[in-house]
Amino acid sequence: MGICQGCHAGCCRSFAIPLTGADIIRLERDTGKTFWDFGCRWADPEGTIAANYAPHFFFHDEPQTPFVICLKHEDSSLFPASTRCKFLKESPPDADHPLGRGECGTYQSRPAACRVFPTKFDVQNELPILHNVPEYGRDQKLPQFKLCPRQWTPADVDPIDATNDLVIARYEARFFSQLARLWNQKVGKWDVFPEFLRDVYARRVQDIPQQQDEEPHILKLADFQQAHRRA
Ligand code: SF4
Ligand code: SF4
Repeated sequence: MGICQGCHAGCCRSFAIPLTGADIIRLERDTGKTFWDFGCRWADPEGTIAANYAPHFFFHDEPQTPFVICLKHEDSSLFPASTRCKFLKESPPDADHPLGRGECGTYQSRPAACRVFPTKFDVQNELPILHNVPEYGRDQKLPQFKLCPRQWTPADVDPIDATNDLVIARYEARFFSQLARLWNQKVGKWDVFPEFLRDVYARRVQDIPQQQDEEPHILKLADFQQAHRRA
């Protein structure tokens, strides 16, 4: 049985989950919801949410505040005065699960940050390694913020999927950081942000280049700028 099976999902209750643009587009496509249903911006003046992983975006209404684009939380039905990821499905406690059970409501489409937890690339960026997961996901040592029932071992992780997920997460984080740099050059309005993303990702697959000596950018800056002008 997988380590997550039957867990109350303290991870989905403790953390602000940063989204990449690709996560947003996939969630919109697969769930039929719009960004406004599941996405939000969390002010991050200290940089603790971005944690050198997620880019900061700035918006017209609060130009001095750095924001990280995250999954929305909503009130937990199991733990009063506590929140959980909007996609988390909760089941009540029983004899085997005193804290109840949590199940991802969008498992196949879950964001990269959820897929890779608790792995990361080692310093040489060649092999996945496991984080040392703390006992609690928040400073408040409340039962709902308890994390994994034991430390993960390599046997808990699929070696192919884990590596693939990390490679994709790294690529998408880099792409999204490029996008943030462009957005922040001409800070736009929060209410057009999802449109901007849809436009950029819709044109991410490029036609066969006419000039073979073009620099191999992931996406040409001009394409970003076109979408940005519309936003
Ligand atoms: S998307 Fe799924 S795995 Fe990720 S935090 Fe939400 S419920 Fe948990
Ligand atoms: S807290 Fe740990 S064991 Fe529980 S669902 Fe999250 S990653 Fe899995």
